[in-house]
Amino acid sequence: MDHTIVLLPGDGIGPEVTDAVVHVLERAGAPFVYTTRLAGQAAVDAGKGDTLPEETLQAIREHRLALKGPCTTPIGKGFSSVNVGLRKRLNLYAAVRPVRSLPGVSTRFDGVDLVVVRENTEGLYAGIENEIVDGVIVSMKVATRAACHRIAHWAFRYANQKRRAKVSLFHKANIMKMSDGLLLEEARKVHAIDYSNIAYEELIIDAAHMKLVQDPSRFDIILCENLYGDIVSDLCAGLVGGLGVCPGANFGDDAAVFEAVHGSAPDIAGKKLANPLALLMSAVMLLRHVSDSRADARCAVAAERIEAAYGKALVDGATTRDLGGTLGTFEFADAVVQRL
Ligand code: ATP
Repeated sequence: MDHTIVLLPGDGIGPEVTDAVVHVLERAGAPFVYTTRLAGQAAVDAGKGDTLPEETLQAIREHRLALKGPCTTPIGKGFSSVNVGLRKRLNLYAAVRPVRSLPGVSTRFDGVDLVVVRENTEGLYAGIENEIVDGVIVSMKVATRAACHRIAHWAFRYANQKRRAKVSLFHKANIMKMSDGLLLEEARKVHAIDYSNIAYEELIIDAAHMKLVQDPSRFDIILCENLYGDIVSDLCAGLVGGLGVCPGANFGDDAAVFEAVHGSAPDIAGKKLANPLALLMSAVMLLRHVSDSRADARCAVAAERIEAAYGKALVDGATTRDLGGTLGTFEFADAVVQRL
């Protein structure tokens, strides 16, 4: 039986990179069938009347797996973030973003191999903003004990499963003593009670960023609340070659949505310049997730093949412009297919 994957092409560069990735998945023998649903501006343009139509959410609830392109979020006004809405509505509370140095992609750093685990449902992303009196805006940062506990538990369990040695919690509990303090409290408990085999450290986020750019190899798993996780993810992307090479996944208890760290990149949308590698790497995460959770060896084989093939393409210098090459989105996908 093949696995049904809900495909959300999104908007901006989303449809281009999604097409390119599906092409590689099909040629690599991924045992998937796809059912496409709309989200974001694309859903509005198609007359669905909502950026996150109920039928899209329902399809993900039913099939439990989705591969998603980015959706544009208007800045300062307009509709609220579809990416954030999806994570909240499906309770995809753990964002996981592996950041690794890649063969053939030279940066200032070698040997980066870390994972950002980001709480995905609350913090300042709760989106509770009010103008309490004229000219005074209040944004509320939400932290609940339950969400702090489950993300801490998730991060340590993931560390254990993936044989990682250390969890570093980035926080600002010297200033946000209550909200960030709650995450510290829960992480300490989870560590002491269930995972004392894994090293654990707490770093104030500003100093942590300095250490990160001085020596990223000292980090293994970085655990953050929502906003810090967003910011540190892009910083980490910069360590290994940029947003074109950073995959991600959002896990809940009932579903998982795989998407690149990058956004919809309106500046290059429709120009066939976008690097599909970050979404392709997210698709490899999806294959591994299905291989582990549904014991399907075909997925593990396809994941290996794709990883080896894009590795060869990078070493051969067959890359998109963001990595210094000359290939367009589909040309890169073809370069990977030729090396499968
Ligand atoms: P959003 O608001 O949708 O999250 P953003 O403002 O965070 O978007 P991105 O869309 O992530 O920004 O893009 C930031 C920069 O990185 C842009 O200059 C964009 O062109 C570039 N970029 C992002 N993704 C890619 C990609 N896959 N390939 C090449 N360049 C990319």
